[in-house]
Amino acid sequence: MKITKILAREIYDSRGWPTVQCEIILNNQFSVKSSVPSGISKGPYEAIELRDGGKRLSGQGVLKAIENIELFLAPQFLSKEPNGLEMDMKILAADSTPDKSKLGANATLALSMALYKAQAFSENVELYELIAWVFGSETVSLPFPMFNLINGGLHSNNNLIIQEFMIVPIGLSNFRASMEVAVNVYHELQNILKKMNRNFAIGDEGGIACGIEDDLEALELLQKAIDTVVKNSGSKCVIALDISAERLYNASKKIYNWGGDKLSSEELMYVYLNLLEKYPIYSLEDPFASNDLESWAKLNKIADGKIQIVGDDIFATNMARIVKGLEQKAANATIVKPNQIGTITETLQTIKMCKEVGVNTIVSHRSGETEDNFIADLAVGASAGQIKAGGCARGERIAKYNRLLTIEDKLALHLLNT
Ligand code: PEP
Ligand code: MG
Repeated sequence: MKITKILAREIYDSRGWPTVQCEIILNNQFSVKSSVPSGISKGPYEAIELRDGGKRLSGQGVLKAIENIELFLAPQFLSKEPNGLEMDMKILAADSTPDKSKLGANATLALSMALYKAQAFSENVELYELIAWVFGSETVSLPFPMFNLINGGLHSNNNLIIQEFMIVPIGLSNFRASMEVAVNVYHELQNILKKMNRNFAIGDEGGIACGIEDDLEALELLQKAIDTVVKNSGSKCVIALDISAERLYNASKKIYNWGGDKLSSEELMYVYLNLLEKYPIYSLEDPFASNDLESWAKLNKIADGKIQIVGDDIFATNMARIVKGLEQKAANATIVKPNQIGTITETLQTIKMCKEVGVNTIVSHRSGETEDNFIADLAVGASAGQIKAGGCARGERIAKYNRLLTIEDKLALHLLNT
């Protein structure tokens, strides 16, 4: 099948801000669509998301990015067979900047995702199968999910300092069983809040976003909900936190603003060590700001491989930054967000490099999402190990989990037939 048309359009994300959709029409009139997410707690090293500026839509319009796809990138791919890997190389050459500042990572990624989808479609394979093939892997595996049940930080307007309170069901035989436990904990948490006569609502990432007073209460309530569910089901759940500490740091004063308290790195370290002692926390993401490397290294040393220390803003899915961080022994895991780097091929290269050096990878959504479920196939095709795609509510979050449920069924069927 050949590409007959590449269209781009401005659509809206789950927060009501514009984002880029790319549609590729193939010569049999079939088409595939992709759309890019957008973060709010962004780090300083992410690829550039091109916004129009000016008055329209508070400057958030993406018409320039759309023009870059349609006028600048698309013409070289028309009448060709879609090929994600080869065409990403052409996208990279056309942009030629280290941070996609010429064309915009929202333009390059939308097209890159659509090219991979078009290739999978025209070769009549599942997207995760194509990704596994490009990745050079003969097998695939479902990721462990991290469900974000309480939303704080920039993902809500409550007083919670910690941005994401996630649970990770463990010891279960498949993804479906994990999802079931998470959903039970999510509903139990709501029951607990109802019994406490708390009003609550759902935040940006599909977790509870108000009705909880502070971070310690959030952890207590989460643990209570987990205990109730675990008692009835025999399963187990551990906790993962994304502190997103970049936004708390005053670099000139070397101080973190912890809910009004001014904490040194050392004092913040004690906060974490106390939390680790009290709760079954197995993963801590962005515990310090990216230029407070010494503190990362200290914590990672204490963690000693027993706790997952995850770099998100510090690494930005960028191989060079991960290598630099590893030289300092800053972390033992990384978040993988395709829009932090700007193409699917670079995202795959990053995951591959991490696997080779033994760094855990967690494929991640952004707080501003769409119904596109590409990251589910990415996590499976590259056997990334872990995924975080939000809480147990909101269509754009559930779309990723539902795709994983479908993939799991397809893989089971495939096993039965071989
Ligand atoms: C995160 O920090 O891990 C995250 C998903 O948030 P955002 O998309 O707002 O950067
Ligand atoms: Mg993060």
